[in-house]
Amino acid sequence: MSQNVFQFVDVQRVDPPKKPLKIRKIQFVEIYEPFNQSQVGMQADRCLDCGNPYCEWKCPVHNYIPNWLKLANEGRILEAVELSHQTNSLPEVCGRVCPQDRLCEGACTLNDRFGAVTIGNIEKYITDKAFEMGWRPDLSNVIKTDKRVAVIGAGPAGLACADVLARGGVSAVVFDKYPEIGGLLTFGIPSFKLEKEVMQRRREIFEAMGIEFRLETEVGKDVSFADLLGEFDAVFLGVGTYKYMKGGFTNEEAPGVYDALPYLISNANRLLGFEKAQADYIDFAGKQVVVLGGGDTAMDCVRTAIRQGADKVICAYRRDAENMPGSKREVQNAREEGVEFMFNLQPVGVELDAHGRTCGIKVVSTELSAPDANGRRNPVVIAGSEQVLAADAVVMAFGFQPNPQPWMSEFGIELDSRERIRAPEQSDFAFQTTNPKVFAGGDAVRGSDLVVTAIYEGRKAAEGIMEYLAV
Ligand code: FAD
Ligand code: SF4
Repeated sequence: MSQNVFQFVDVQRVDPPKKPLKIRKIQFVEIYEPFNQSQVGMQADRCLDCGNPYCEWKCPVHNYIPNWLKLANEGRILEAVELSHQTNSLPEVCGRVCPQDRLCEGACTLNDRFGAVTIGNIEKYITDKAFEMGWRPDLSNVIKTDKRVAVIGAGPAGLACADVLARGGVSAVVFDKYPEIGGLLTFGIPSFKLEKEVMQRRREIFEAMGIEFRLETEVGKDVSFADLLGEFDAVFLGVGTYKYMKGGFTNEEAPGVYDALPYLISNANRLLGFEKAQADYIDFAGKQVVVLGGGDTAMDCVRTAIRQGADKVICAYRRDAENMPGSKREVQNAREEGVEFMFNLQPVGVELDAHGRTCGIKVVSTELSAPDANGRRNPVVIAGSEQVLAADAVVMAFGFQPNPQPWMSEFGIELDSRERIRAPEQSDFAFQTTNPKVFAGGDAVRGSDLVVTAIYEGRKAAEGIMEYLAV
């Protein structure tokens, strides 16, 4: 096969088909069917190879997109997967969960009239297919050094850092308090976007590359940070952001009101067999659920509730549909699965029954102001517009803030005014903190963001660490 410059005129953009709704609504499985080689060939061939690939610039890890599209089109999957791993440590994950409409595909030249190339799905296909064919990273030419680095956090930032270190001959030991690697990839993002087996397969691959994982080990509790600083040549912090933002309304601590992440984690623990006690599982079967918020975490919660068998699931958001921060694709998926959306509603308090349990959420209607200095339209409450939505479970999905570890200040690791770890990319050694031996990246440095930006920072920090260690 060769590239046809006018393929995009003859061949429409096609996304992979979704599984039937009756399966989607009850099972925690990825909703998209995989592409086959013939579909990949057709879709990859739509790439114009436009000379100035905006998609590459917009992709946070700067993947060589047109080059691996060409290889995928020609069925040269093993060459494509080698190339994609030059810039990305978890391409099969990014292909599944990146908000492509805002990143690579949003920047595709074809986007205006013809529909962007389906970059994410092809990236996923290349990696999954290569693994199926038995491809594994080849480290046989790597010259081992005697340097050892402790990586705290097995989320995408920590994993990407360990990946680049291993490829550079540096031993990486990854510590995580959870019993499986992945961080939010495993315990936050639900299986209908990213099946758990994807990260389990990656763990085996990383282990075969020589990366050591010490799971169920919390730094600061099971092992001290001082010991790690003494034992290792450098330390990378990829500890994420885990402080839940609250609504500030009455009765938000009442039984029946949940923070989004503990709810999603309890569901992941059940699916993975990590549940310690039946009571740890938050079950919305048969319940009327109201999820407050309009981002991707809110979408993950409403769609999880549907699969648990909730009677009714409402997403209540304080702005309108156009101003929702979540991905349009995920909102559409939620609608298809039966979620009801209510816009311009702001919560003011949880209603309690005679036993003190949640029985509703009082909301007021809002209208949007003129755009502020940042172009954002803010919700303004309409007087006298109160109403109560019946609910026996309310989920707060308002986002996350950094939760600096208590031991950081003791070791001279400074934070910025928003409690993010100070670790600039542009410095002598990329992503070095104010303690020269300690590097950091991902959500803990940039605030709650994306998988692909965490991967970028983990990779760059590994380069910074290797320069610092002079290897
Ligand atoms: P994390 O993934 O949070 O990993 C941090 C790890 O550090 C955790 O495993 C934690 O256990 C460990 N850790 C922390 N402290 C310690 C300690 N003291 N000792 C040992 N281990 C420790 N992004 C997307 O791009 N697409 C999506 O679809 C998407 N969906 C999301 C859905 C939800 C519900 C959430 C919450 C986030 C979502 N995100 C999504 C954002 C994305 O998951 C994060 O930006 C990304 O995971 C950040 O990576 P990280 O490695 O910095 O941190
Ligand atoms: Fe697109 Fe994300 Fe893949 Fe980059 S990593 S090409 S942004 S899907």
